[in-house]
Amino acid sequence: MPKPLTENTAVHKSTLPEPLAYIDDRASRPAQVRKQTLRNPNTLEPLQPLHACDDAQAESALAAAARAHETAVWENTPTSERAALLEAVADALDAPEVQETIAEVDALTTGAVISLTRNMARLAPLSFRAAAQYLREGNLEQRLPGRHGEVEYFRRPWGPAMLISPWNGPTAIGCHKIASALAAGAPCIAKPSEWTPHSSVVVAEAIARAGLPPGTFQLLLGNRETAGKLLGDPRIKAISFTGGTEGGRAVSAASVNSFRPLQLELGGNNPLVVFADADLDQAAAGIAFGLSNLNAQWCRALGRVIVHREVKQALLEKVQHALAGIRMGHSLDPDAEMGPQIHRQQFDSVQRHIQRLRAAGGELLQSTTLPDLPGYFIPPTLVDGCDPGQTRVEMFGPVAAVHSFDTSAEALALANGTDYGLAAYVYSGDEQAAFDFSRKLRTGGVKINGYDLLSLSPTAPRAAWGMSGLGEEGTGHSIEFFTGARVVGLVARGPAQN
Ligand code: NDP
Repeated sequence: MPKPLTENTAVHKSTLPEPLAYIDDRASRPAQVRKQTLRNPNTLEPLQPLHACDDAQAESALAAAARAHETAVWENTPTSERAALLEAVADALDAPEVQETIAEVDALTTGAVISLTRNMARLAPLSFRAAAQYLREGNLEQRLPGRHGEVEYFRRPWGPAMLISPWNGPTAIGCHKIASALAAGAPCIAKPSEWTPHSSVVVAEAIARAGLPPGTFQLLLGNRETAGKLLGDPRIKAISFTGGTEGGRAVSAASVNSFRPLQLELGGNNPLVVFADADLDQAAAGIAFGLSNLNAQWCRALGRVIVHREVKQALLEKVQHALAGIRMGHSLDPDAEMGPQIHRQQFDSVQRHIQRLRAAGGELLQSTTLPDLPGYFIPPTLVDGCDPGQTRVEMFGPVAAVHSFDTSAEALALANGTDYGLAAYVYSGDEQAAFDFSRKLRTGGVKINGYDLLSLSPTAPRAAWGMSGLGEEGTGHSIEFFTGARVVGLVARGPAQN
């Protein structure tokens, strides 16, 4: 349980700007102030009530997006001009004071440490620059050889897009969606998590200053009910959603009659497999990273350690040592390496999983020192000794199960033994054997002998299998998601000859 708040534990004075929606080209206050309170996850001090746009604001946003689509002014803006406007947004987001504001509000609202949110803030301008570059390369307009001259193959936006983001990587995930939809020429409405709207407001200000055509970009604030008002509306032509399974189901259900294109980036229960010949120091460092980076509140965080029985004990000793070295602290402390969980519900959910596995016979391994703060801190935790059937669900937090194997076939069955398929990690002294094993994993990506946030290749898709989602993300992949293809060409030259 979090310790009670005492005055001398509040080491950082923290404030948040007022969240503003951007609807129909005007910044406006969300009409509803909700009963729930956003708290500093480090100290539990109240920061702000949660806000939500009302029905009238949701309708204004929809109507403005539909008008923008009808006039097609953004769609018909030449791609070089669209690219220049995206670059202007990137320039605004690159400004040092803007970067620092994004890093601070994300650290304060999510609990992710500021050294990390500073790095993630850099992804905001990079998303817009990458999308602009994709346009400048002419990828949306191609000419193909045909029987009677060139065939035009070009892509046009489906129409207004709804962009729904989670709280755990608000800037990186939100900006990737916004930059991709705008590059595609689609008017879009972004709806960040109600827990983390502030960095999206900064991004919306940058977009507003760049001067896109009316109704092209709007920011709607609120929770899932706010989003729900738009999901079923036929004016929304494509939805990009990142979040949990239930939200993904709601988005799918709302699209069942319209066959609307959906991009679903959902949860994971990611295995990390350690073979007997692996470098155990390297594997232990990977496990500690997977249990602490972004406070293990990310879709590709560690879910299950699957280790060869011969090296299990030695590995767990090294992991205990690595976890003891993690500096847990206030998320605004530049020296902290791991912060608190975002809010009470998330804290309680992770604790429930830990207690559930403990009750199922699991032994807890924890060695990170908790800070002297009353917030939602949970130390990185491994749980050894549970039946694999108990560890099939996503726990989404700094807790992972440990299972052991004797043969490679057993390791494969354990690694593929969930309905998810987002990420996997394989540690082995034999790179060829690691590749052979990794190719058989039913998952969107496998990293061998390392664990980090970055993609293996900047042009590779971020893919998902099974319950982890639908569709692929990536600069080109996401831009194309918001578009449909059109192919135009001649079947015959001149009048038909009789
Ligand atoms: P949620 O699914 O609770 O929420 C995600 C977003 O969807 C929020 O904006 C939320 O609104 C909204 N939402 C939730 N339910 C609905 C609904 N029924 N209708 C419309 N909108 C809805 O996820 P979290 O924010 O808790 O994020 C954690 C989850 O996201 C984890 O499962 C994680 O694995 C997954 N994730 C996946 C990633 C990937 O790339 N695959 C990346 C990052 C996270 P609000 O919360 O404001 O009510």
